[in-house]
This record gives sequence, structure tokens and C-alpha cells, in this order.
Amino acid sequence: MANAIGIDIGGTKIAGAVVDDLGVIVRSERVPTPKDPLELEDAVVAMIGSFRAAEAAGATLAVGVAAAGFIDAAQSTVYYAPNIAWRNEPFREKLEARTGGTVVVDNDANAAGWAEFRFGAGRLVSDMVMLTIGTGVGGAIVSGDRLFRGGFGAGAELGHLRVVPGGIACGCGQHGCIEQYGSGRALLRMANEIADAGGIGQTLARVRKERGRLHGSDVGALIQDGDPGALAALRQLGHWLGEASASLAAVLDPQRFVFGGGVASAGELLLEPIRESFFDHLPARGFHPEPDFVIAELVNDAGVVGAADLARVWVAEHS
Ligand SMILES: [Zn+2]
Repeated sequence: MANAIGIDIGGTKIAGAVVDDLGVIVRSERVPTPKDPLELEDAVVAMIGSFRAAEAAGATLAVGVAAAGFIDAAQSTVYYAPNIAWRNEPFREKLEARTGGTVVVDNDANAAGWAEFRFGAGRLVSDMVMLTIGTGVGGAIVSGDRLFRGGFGAGAELGHLRVVPGGIACGCGQHGCIEQYGSGRALLRMANEIADAGGIGQTLARVRKERGRLHGSDVGALIQDGDPGALAALRQLGHWLGEASASLAAVLDPQRFVFGGGVASAGELLLEPIRESFFDHLPARGFHPEPDFVIAELVNDAGVVGAADLARVWVAEHS
């Protein structure tokens, strides 16, 4: 099948690529994300035009767009986006009218999860859960070889699975979501608490004093150095993620959990406490097959590769 275009609209940059049907990037572009929604639309239209012009015989490649936010099940309207002033934005309709080809719009975490399922860490299973551990916690579910979107399109918001009733307040308006216990921001909070307590937190406290405050990169470097305080923070984080994974397994029974995002670069150091806590909390342990836990493989390109493939899937199912 033909190449497709994937475009990932992030908070600071728009990444775009022409991707072939094996998930390989043929060409790519990136531009800063304009603040103004109309300028943003213009930038996406210009990128689509430039990719199509570069194709042999001016082929009208299908386009998949990934963006953070709630997007309807028809892959068409953005109900709400946290970083862009969109409310019930008919983005697909607008882009199709301006570019004259098929466009689909999907949530960015769904696109990244789909890319892992098709071409990365999830390619050998039919059922997969992906948790993206960045500043927040993103989620994607593949069930029976299909991306799970929910009835209205706003499903798989796994970051807002409640792990602590009445717990820490979350940006979503609720309390105790896994995003507050299993994200990069949570790791920083835990590292600061360990620094405050002294003991194994001495090095964290010293670095915090030198740098003014702890940055994610400081904690990441100390984890790589084997600092006991930073490793203790990562173990706490892994504990919560393992517990959340056990609840997800009770509902979804995936063969594999995939962890992506910046914090997942800790690799086995993150997976080990996740597995330990998962098996401590798994319902009916020992009476059914158990999933495995791996790190995502596609890292930076997952959004564009997944978005392009979702466009390809849409065309295949509607032609
Ligand atoms: Zn929440």
C-alpha cells in the first residue's frame, strides 16, 4: 500500500513525516507550533502540501494528525485540547476542505501506542496496554488487534485511573489519579521528599542546592549513576505504576504492557519495581497466564508513524 503522511502537533513543535507501510520514515519536517489556531492550521496545510508535492506524480497521500486532547470516535472533531485554543474544533473537515484528501485526527497517545503495536514493542501480540510516562501519564489500549477509543472517543485516558481515593489533586479536576503518582512530575516530587528526609537523599539535596531546584534531567542522571536516593524515588514510582497495571490487567487482560516517555529511558530499573508491585496486586495470581513488561522502541517517532498508519487503516476500512 501507499505511503501516508503523519503529523504530530506537540506543545512546542509540529513534527511531520511521510511514512511507508512498514513504518519507515521516508522524509520529515518540523516547525514550531504557532500559538494562534488559524496559523497552526496554515502550518499543517503547508506541511501536507510540501509532502504531497515531493511524491511521485503528485500522489494525494492520506493524512493522519495526532494531537493532545479529547477527539471524537469518528477521528474528526477535537472536543478539547489542553495546549491549543480548540473547543469542538472540526479539524478534519477543515483540513480535508483545504487539502482535498483523506484526513483523520487521533489523540497523540493513541497514535504513539498504535505505532508501538504495529512496528515496535507490541508487534507480536494482539492485546497491549501502553503507558507513556512523560510530564503526565498518557495511555493507549489495543484490544483484539484494534485501537480502543471508547464510545465517544475519549477512552483510554489511563493517566486518570484512580489509584488513591481522596489522593493528590489532579489537573483533570479529580483526586488520586495515577498521573499524580506515576508521572515525571510525580518522580520529581518523590525525589524532593527524599532529599528533604536526609539519609539516602543527601546527594539529591546537594544537587538541588547547586541547581536551585531539582530538574528531571538531574534525577535521571542520578538514577543512571546508581544514587540510592534517586533509585528509591524511581522504585516508588514503579510501585504505583505496577499497582495501576494490575487494575488494568483485571479489565483488559493484555499480553504485554509497554512503557514509553522520558522516564522509561531508565529501562529495567523502572520495569523491575513495576513487575514486583504488579504481581503483588494481580487478582487471582497463578490461575491464568501473565503479561510481560517492556520499554517502548520507537521513542521520538512514534507519534508521526502511528498517525500515518491510522490514516492508512482508515482508508483500507473505508474503500
Ligand atoms: Zn486526573
